[in-house]
Order: sequence, then structure tokens, then C-alpha cells
Amino acid sequence: MTFYTCGPTVYDFAHIGNFRSFLAADLLRRYLESPFCNEGQGYQVAHIVNMTDVGHMTDDEVADGAGEDKMEAARKRLLEDKKSGKLPAGVDIDPTDPMAVAEFYIGAFLADSRALGFKVAFDQQEHAEVMPRPTQYIQPMIELVQTLIDRGHAYVGGDGVVYFDTQSFPKYGQLSGNTLDRLRSGAGGRVAEDTQAVKKHPADFMLWKPDQTHLMRWDSPWGEGYPGWHLECSVMAQHLLGTETNGVIDLHSGGEDNLFPHHECEVAQSCGATGEEHFARYWFHPRHLFVEGGKMSKSKGTFFTVQQLRDEGYAPAAIRLELIKTHYRSNANFTFQGLKDSAKMLGRWKEARIQIARQSLAWNQHTVLSARKRLHAAFKAAMDDDLNLAGAIGEINKFLNEAQHYPVDDSKTILEERDSRRILEEYPEQVKELGLLDVFAAIGPVLGVFELEDAAEPAAAADVDAALIESKIAERKQARRDKDWGKADAIRDELEALGVVLIDSAKGTTWKVKTG
Ligand SMILES: [Zn+2]
Repeated sequence: MTFYTCGPTVYDFAHIGNFRSFLAADLLRRYLESPFCNEGQGYQVAHIVNMTDVGHMTDDEVADGAGEDKMEAARKRLLEDKKSGKLPAGVDIDPTDPMAVAEFYIGAFLADSRALGFKVAFDQQEHAEVMPRPTQYIQPMIELVQTLIDRGHAYVGGDGVVYFDTQSFPKYGQLSGNTLDRLRSGAGGRVAEDTQAVKKHPADFMLWKPDQTHLMRWDSPWGEGYPGWHLECSVMAQHLLGTETNGVIDLHSGGEDNLFPHHECEVAQSCGATGEEHFARYWFHPRHLFVEGGKMSKSKGTFFTVQQLRDEGYAPAAIRLELIKTHYRSNANFTFQGLKDSAKMLGRWKEARIQIARQSLAWNQHTVLSARKRLHAAFKAAMDDDLNLAGAIGEINKFLNEAQHYPVDDSKTILEERDSRRILEEYPEQVKELGLLDVFAAIGPVLGVFELEDAAEPAAAADVDAALIESKIAERKQARRDKDWGKADAIRDELEALGVVLIDSAKGTTWKVKTG
């Protein structure tokens, strides 16, 4: 399955509203990959998220892109900040270099993304191309513009700018409802005023702008200049996902503000160039995030980055859960109370996971298997219903409440808490095979929060001396020979506190660093 997500502009820090949209796309991807889809197999999802480092203007909400170059604006802002000593602590970038500005914000975005479990940012560590940058695709953009001119979908306007000819594409407006008739009359400021005279139709949008003074510019058949901001997604989706399908991709997402003009223009460019009926088979537009009931605003103090929340002590797992738990088609309302509730729910889940791992050996096997089956069926039913995560979370909580009352088979010993933790950690494969202990084995990777919690646990063992560990193991071996179980357990605990897990087998005892 091919999935393209319109990513961040890298002229500033991404805020939690941006991440609401990205994590909704991430949830969709994780669910598609899970055994709940495709008859237990999950789909293989190729996910691309671009990082826009060129082409955005400050008036992006108008179809033809007007205002000041956002990179120029960011550069000026950073320059001011540097002069007045307001650059964030530890930041040493040259604000006069646009690529350094982009690089700085890309680094921050990747760090936030990995902290919140945005899976594509982990893919990116091995395959950098999954988070492509438009400045690396300028030549293919020029080729696309040429193709559109050749096919009669684009023209050079009176001002030398290359425009897309919207009247040559009758389906323009079908995705967003902003049809040409509606746009002709000005459409409430959704087309730029200053370029009307040179265009065939008010809705025609810019593909290439010759501009010798622009901060970032490249050679082209239409003069040195820069691409329109919609171009990059058509080109990168085609190159990275659509080479075998004539540019058609399965899924395309972006925040609801991307619907028009951005996605409408992407469709016109892509289908105009390929002649295909569709650009993306399915569109996914999560709605906006409000903060404490209102629009996010710097002046009201309701504008938050992920780092700001982490600095206030909120765990990434709780931030993730808070940002994904409202249905993507509804406006989410971020509140600190909600964030605290999410953290509390994660705490309850964690306790319950340990508790259930402990008890499930003592449950009769039939009870465990049918309980797990019921939970999975209910979770799947909720998620299949247009990704109803709130409903799916309700099913998890219902299961956990019920599980407390399952009858326990007294002939089996209930595991000590430490042993059940150990079984989960040391024998994940066996646990998977038995399907008994970790009822969340399939659900966890969809939610993407347990892995963040586990990763957050201290792994002090990196600093631990291997020789010390070996001597402790030898000491414990002797204690066990002496049947001094208390001492043997104390040594295990001591090492565990250092982040070292002991693994006993017929061949003796080995150890590993706890990785979560
Ligand atoms: Zn896009």
C-alpha cells in the first residue's frame, strides 16, 4: 500500500496541532500494518512524508501562492533573534543560510517525531528518502511543468510565470468543492488579487516563477526562479511511490487546511500529467486541534511544541495518546486535564498488563483465549469503523475491568510480579506463540504508546562494567548452589536496577541490557 503524507514546512518548530494530524496518519498506517487488517497478514505500507524546504509563501491559503517566501521570513526572524540574543539555548546556526535554517528545523522535527513514535521518522534512519526534501527534486519538478505545458494544461502568463490552466481540467474543484464557478467571483479571498490580469482564470495557480531576487532559485526553461508550492508533492509521490502505477497512489493525507488549495492543485497537476482518473484512491484529512477550547495562539499562551510539553514533565507516551484519542474527523480539544487523564490511563494499563501477565497462567486456558479473542474482535470492530480509536480504547478498558473478575485456577501458581515481568521481557517469542500472557501483543503496536513507555525506562546498563556483571552472576550461581534463594534473588534485583536482565537456561546464565 502506498501512502503519502504532506509533511511539515521546516521554517519553524512543529506544534502539537501539526502532530495531531501526523499521528492520525501514523495510527492509520500502524493499523493497516497490523494483523487486524488483510486477513491477519497486515498490509505492507510504504509511507512517505515530505519536509518542505522551498516554495511556501506566507499567504498559502490563496490558490496561487502570494506574500513573502516563508524561508525568507524565517531567516529574518532568526536573524532578529540572534541579534537580540533570543535564539533558543544551544542553537548555533547561520541565519543567513537558508539550508542551515531548514536543517535546524528538520532536526527538531525528527527528534519530536521519534519521541512521539511517528514511525516514518524511524524508517528515515535507514532510508533517508522516505522523508524527502523538495530542493532535491527540482529537476523532476521542471520536467512536470514541461509535461503540463506539452499536454495543454499549463501556459506562460503575461508576467512570465508558468500557471496551471484550471479550465483545461474540468475536474478542478471536485475534491474540495471549490469549483471554478465559485472561485471566479473571488471566492472570499481564496485567489490572489494582484495576478488576475495576467491569468486566463482567477483560479489558475503558479507552477514556476522566474525571480532573480528570490532567496532560493534554480535555472529553468522559463528563467531562473523557484517552483510553486503544490508541485513538490505531485513529483515526490510519483517518484517515490507511483513509478509502477503511472503516478496513482493508494492513500494521501494532510491536515484539513491542505484540502484546498494544496490537494486540489496536486490532483490537477498529477492527473493532468498522467491522464489518470485519480491521483490518490483515498484521501485522509484529520481536522484541526484546538487548545483549551480555542485556536492555538502564541499571544494567549496556548501554542505548544512537543518539546515545551516534555520540558513541563509530560511523558511522550501520554502526549501521543492525548493527540490520537479523539476521532480524526472531529476537532480535538487539547487540555492539560486531558493530558493528565491520558497519563493516568497509561499508568493503569501498565499495571494491568503486568497483572494480567501474572494471572493469565493461573486462568484456565480457555478463559484466557476466549477473552483475548473477544477483545481482539471488539478492538477490530471499533477500528474498522472509520478508525474509531475512542471506541477501541473503551473496549480495552472494558476488558481490563472484566479480567479482574475471571476465576483463577488454584492448582497453578500465580506468578510473582517480578517473574511475570521477566517472562514478558525474556521470552517474547514464546509469549507470542502461546498467545497467553500478552493480550496486547497485537494491539500495542497499533497504539504505539507502550513502546514509548518502555523506551523511556532508564537503561543505565550502558555504563555498567561487564566484568562486574559476570562476577555478580558467579556470586549468584554460588548462592543458588547453596540454596540461598534470598541472596540469589537479591543479586538479580541488584542487576535489574542497573538495567541488566539475567537469562537462565540449561547452559547457564547469560545477561542482556534491558532495551524495553
Ligand atoms: Zn502536499
